Amino acid sequence: MHEDERGQLIERLRRYGYVTDRKVLEAMGSVPREEFLPADQRRLAYQDTPLSIGKGQTISAPHMVGMMLDALELRPGMKVLEIGTGSGYHASLMGYLVRPNGRVYTVERIEELGTSARGTLERLGFGDVVEVVIADGTEGLKEHAPYDRILVTAAAPSVPQPLKEQLADGGRLLLPLGTRAMQELVMVTRHGDEYRRQELGGVMFVPLIGKHGYRD
Ligand code: SAM
Repeated sequence: MHEDERGQLIERLRRYGYVTDRKVLEAMGSVPREEFLPADQRRLAYQDTPLSIGKGQTISAPHMVGMMLDALELRPGMKVLEIGTGSGYHASLMGYLVRPNGRVYTVERIEELGTSARGTLERLGFGDVVEVVIADGTEGLKEHAPYDRILVTAAAPSVPQPLKEQLADGGRLLLPLGTRAMQELVMVTRHGDEYRRQELGGVMFVPLIGKHGYRD
């Protein structure tokens, strides 16, 4: 039943133009979103809506996940940093897309969410490609820098300086920027010491909380 619903959702994302990359559609068609949800939310897994994952946090709507993956243009072998593991769903899809030889490091500040996501990722066979780190992601993850792609899945007041520094030359950093109530999805591309910005439209994410984000 979940497989039928998943197939229908993916077909809608394709038809309405949210996702164009064939590999992104393939990844979203393969990874079971329901496995990343608390039991009481699973029946809603294939509605195109954000859902609660506990601790006041959410898993983003599938169309938003797909749009962000499309914009990142992930390829096998890339090294990726995600800030905001949440359920681990987005990280699993990125793991799917950077295989073989790629790596996804995903950072979560809430220990309970990070631990649960790590368990789900291992159970679904992503333990070899995705590593969950529990820390303040606004500091980035210096030990594995530079990253070809950085994805932030919580809204920041400004681009955290450590993330700019840890982005590879030619790399892309995608993040929601703005106030807690009004945000825009922004793609930052690095060209040496120059960072170019492209605005991709209005979005609504939970706040990025940390040293280079919002205060708790
Ligand atoms: N990508 C997630 C998924 O697939 O389920 C959804 C992420 S949810 C919209 C945003 C997450 O960012 C929350 O789990 C929140 O705890 C986390 N977060 C907020 N500030 C953070 C920070 N400074 N470092 C790491 N994670 C942070």
